[in-house]
Amino acid sequence: MKKIAIFPGSFDPFTNGHRNIVLRGLRLFDQIIIGIGHNSKKKRYFDLEEMIELISSSFKGYDNISVITYDELTADLAKKLGANYLLRGLRNTTDFEYENSIAQVNKHLNNDLESVFLITSPEFASVSSSIIREIHRYGADISGFVPYKI
Ligand code: ADP
Repeated sequence: MKKIAIFPGSFDPFTNGHRNIVLRGLRLFDQIIIGIGHNSKKKRYFDLEEMIELISSSFKGYDNISVITYDELTADLAKKLGANYLLRGLRNTTDFEYENSIAQVNKHLNNDLESVFLITSPEFASVSSSIIREIHRYGADISGFVPYKI
């Protein structure tokens, strides 16, 4: 059976840390679907359509990586896509506390779904979407933190 994983997140924006998790995830899974969770009532900082384009272009040549958006429970999306794994990244204990709770809930909602966590590579441990948004807001260059030109 093909091992399909969803890498869910806000990706506002998608960072080099996220990319690292996806590329390392390819050693474990046959296919990775990057799922941008989007609640239409919540405003994003980076435009959603543009982010899909940027992420897709940064993985050009990888036919086993795709990018989608969704506005439903991740556990339901996984069922719909036939994905049995959720890929997530862990930077620190704060991430762990949060991830622990959502993994328990997701398992409850969809018993076929296993959450798999990769510990961040040290060079990306301090990279976060919120810090990058802050840097961008004040007009500074974020190209060292993201895998595309923006
Ligand atoms: P969410 O809003 O669901 O937390 P994010 O887009 O912030 O979504 O992150 C998606 C996933 O990527 C989460 O599992 C998060 O812990 C992980 N992640 C975020 N930044 C990094 C990083 N620098 N290195 C490794 N994993 C990361």
